[in-house]
Amino acid sequence: MSVKVSAVIPVFNEEKNLDELVSRLTKTLEGAGFSYEIVFVDDGSRDASLSLLKDFAAKDPRVVVVEFTRNFGQHAAVMAGFAQSRGEVVVTLDADLQNPPEEIPKLVARMAEGYDTVGGWRRDRDDSVFRKMPSRVLNSLSAQLFGVALKDYGCMLRAYSREVVDEVVKCPEVNTYIPALANSFARRVTEIPVEHAARTRGESKYNLVKLLRLNFDLMTGFSLLPIQAVGLAGITVAIFGLAFAVFLFIRRLVVGPEAQGVFTLFAILFFFIGLQIFALGVLGEYIGRIYQEVRRRPRFVVRGVHGGTK
Ligand code: UDP
Ligand code: MG
Repeated sequence: MSVKVSAVIPVFNEEKNLDELVSRLTKTLEGAGFSYEIVFVDDGSRDASLSLLKDFAAKDPRVVVVEFTRNFGQHAAVMAGFAQSRGEVVVTLDADLQNPPEEIPKLVARMAEGYDTVGGWRRDRDDSVFRKMPSRVLNSLSAQLFGVALKDYGCMLRAYSREVVDEVVKCPEVNTYIPALANSFARRVTEIPVEHAARTRGESKYNLVKLLRLNFDLMTGFSLLPIQAVGLAGITVAIFGLAFAVFLFIRRLVVGPEAQGVFTLFAILFFFIGLQIFALGVLGEYIGRIYQEVRRRPRFVVRGVHGGTK
């Protein structure tokens, strides 16, 4: 049996949000008048999330729950949800109600105009400055890197066509960033403004390190530009260094020996050493990810699938 819309939702310790999420989702999707399923992926929650989800699945055959053996991360969870989903259109959203479920019909209506993906961009993003500022930098950078200028690569309230979802599921990489990956398979891409709410219950699952890692996934997974930029910076610095050496040599001939400005030299040196270490770090990010990919470990392990109509 086919369904029109699949809602794919990664869940990691969201017990306080699930009741409201399911009732608002059900109300919206029923009201919209298309056939649907809700695919939850429990990403190794340590609270009551899983048992709550199983209860929903037992009560409503339109709810499916994919259970992970442990926490594999938001994008791995979305991948698993994609693999499970059957809808002609697949909509992803967060479980914490920051993406209002009421926006889903808008995305679906836009998809009907023939788009391959429809992204939501958060007009009034309700997050802290520390969460928003890096995103802003990243969005403009992403636009340059991927050639697809989107206002909001970070928003997970998005719709994808069956075709795109099937291609994404075929991709074997461990570290990935779904919106960018999906757009690499899409021809017609658009964005519509969506609402965004502050998180009222539970906590954000992203600390600074996790966020940094995700952003490096986005950067290294879809472009060689960061590493090329580092190479280019190296060449530029070397040319300046050479020019400086020539200048010093001529000066030595004209002015004679001099030994001032030692500390200036230190400052310059530290700057370049810093640059070098940074370059090594960027290199490391690529190599580490290559290592993870060549090990070919599964990017997630499913313990079981609960509910749903077969
Ligand atoms: N999430 C997940 N696994 C993780 C981290 C997050 O499945 O390892 C889910 C989380 O339950 C939520 C969504 O991904 O549904 C977005 O997470 P969060 O709200 O913490 O991110 P933020 O809004 O702070 O970017
Ligand atoms: Mg959130």
